[in-house]
Amino acid sequence: MSFVIQCPCGQLMTVDDSYVGREVICVKCHQRLRVPQAPADAGAVVRAEVPRSSMGSDALPEAAGVGHRLPHRASLVLVLGLLGFIPCCGFVGAIAWVFGVSDIKKMHSGEMDPSGEGVTNVGKILGMLAALLWVIEVIVFLGFQLSPYSHRGF
Ligand SMILES: [Zn+2]
Repeated sequence: MSFVIQCPCGQLMTVDDSYVGREVICVKCHQRLRVPQAPADAGAVVRAEVPRSSMGSDALPEAAGVGHRLPHRASLVLVLGLLGFIPCCGFVGAIAWVFGVSDIKKMHSGEMDPSGEGVTNVGKILGMLAALLWVIEVIVFLGFQLSPYSHRGF
């Protein structure tokens, strides 16, 4: 689960609760911040403290997990995945597949809001199936067209 912290400079950042007690760097003012306990109320914003000791911020790992994450587009991926099953729209499924793979990668790296991962994954799988079905349809169609036993009368 992630929650929102606020730097003394006013910048809001989303952090994963695995960061509680660890230090991160503010994306705006580059100040070191200690991530406080997650609030009891999931929607609440917690003020982050500035730790007293001040080693250079270089000593800290990358400010991973901090920053404005891209909003997920799980419903878009899901809709594209479903549209892929409409005959002749298989390429839309391929788009859902590609979006899904890249979005899930971004969610795992912290660039994108991971709350949409489940739905994105469903959309990705539907898109993949739709795209594969489409490829099979195209092959069958071409095979039929090229077949000497087709309606062309050979
Ligand atoms: Zn700041």
